[in-house]
Amino acid sequence: MILKKRTFKGGVHPPEEKNWTQDKPIEIMPAPATVIIPLQQHIGRPSTPKVKVGDTVKIGDPLSEPAGFVSVPSHASVSGTVKAIDKAPHPLGVEILAVTIENDGKDEFSDVILKEADRSELSREEIIARISAAGIAGMGGATFPTHVKLSPPPNKKIETLILNGAECEPYLTADHRLMLAYPDEILDGMDIIIKALNCKTGYIGIEKNKPDAIKLLREKVREKGFPYQVLSFQVKYPQGAEKQLIKAITGREVPRGGLPMDVGCLVQNVGTAKAVHDAVRYKKPLYERVVTVTGPGINVSRNVLARIGTPLRELLNFCGGLKDGAAKIINGGPMMGISQFSLEVPVIKGTSGILVLGEKESQIAEEQPCIRCGRCVVACPMGLMPNLLATLVEYNKFDQAKKYGILDCIECGSCTFICPAKRYLVHYIKHGKLEVNRAAKSAA
Ligand code: SF4
Ligand code: SF4
Repeated sequence: MILKKRTFKGGVHPPEEKNWTQDKPIEIMPAPATVIIPLQQHIGRPSTPKVKVGDTVKIGDPLSEPAGFVSVPSHASVSGTVKAIDKAPHPLGVEILAVTIENDGKDEFSDVILKEADRSELSREEIIARISAAGIAGMGGATFPTHVKLSPPPNKKIETLILNGAECEPYLTADHRLMLAYPDEILDGMDIIIKALNCKTGYIGIEKNKPDAIKLLREKVREKGFPYQVLSFQVKYPQGAEKQLIKAITGREVPRGGLPMDVGCLVQNVGTAKAVHDAVRYKKPLYERVVTVTGPGINVSRNVLARIGTPLRELLNFCGGLKDGAAKIINGGPMMGISQFSLEVPVIKGTSGILVLGEKESQIAEEQPCIRCGRCVVACPMGLMPNLLATLVEYNKFDQAKKYGILDCIECGSCTFICPAKRYLVHYIKHGKLEVNRAAKSAA
């Protein structure tokens, strides 16, 4: 029998660099003296503050209210006093309204959080209400509000839930260690989502470089008698991207400009499933997360359970501080992460990793003219022509870039990685997407 390879077209093989932290269990970081909690840590409208300076708060108390359906609240991650509600540095490189709380060191929890797990059968509406109140936004980094993803329009039936444990981004191991530490909670979160959506099938997709997590989750699935499958994938970037995962598992292709629900699928990160378990069983808001702090520029690479709002400076100090020669700090991994310019930037719901590079790894090669080798085209998992798109953007031909599918780019960075001429392809494409979207808005 010929087994079909579970994979997708295109992709690249960057050095995995997981060995810095893959064997390191999650360590709990003590809460910092001050947390800075942005009121926008999700895709959608920023939430609106519901506390004022001088208020005292407990862990899990809501600091803000959603400003519409596609919006989620932020919650206190320490107990203490609200010291400021002001614009503060955000990982996206902009300043965003944030609530600063001075920690009173008492670690008092909100009365809302249940001490015992609630195992009662909840309706779909009750489940979604708890997820929404807990402020959950996709924890793989996309930060799309989870309650919105779980509320498809009536004409879109979700048949298949895919739990994403691929963690294909080099260096990052937060999801890997989460699967090893919380398999029961992750599977319970998966089961909650499957039942809420009345899905027919459920899969957990994990890359083969995490054999211990694959084995453990398979054992747990068998033990619990769940009808879900744990699938292992060949290691290829970006295996963990939604559309690539759907293609690899179901063979279905999400149409251009479409969403996973268009092919009956929903993809959730394993961290999101754990957060769903916490929210539904304990009414626990999302106020902490696992972050991989790693790379050649940090003294002690670790997987850290950190409070949301922890300033990078504190997180890095918990990991032994920066090495001499640390040259670049990236929020996320090397392929899709964003360079950081302030150590006051806080950990947010989508912070899966902080990568610290040394001088050697941070050097940016000088861009050379395209040699038309076509490697970027072969590597693009979305079937785009990155070389052409970049050239169109360079010449301000945004209409044509749109025609050639620039909005389908998932900004995975595979094209830039593979390009022998070191063209800044993603940089051009991101700029082009902004221009295309801007033109569409002003035309509306
Ligand atoms: S064009 Fe976009 S989707 Fe294609 S490889 Fe480049 S970054 Fe990835
Ligand atoms: S990989 Fe680089 S050099 Fe080759 S075609 Fe693409 S842009 Fe040109």
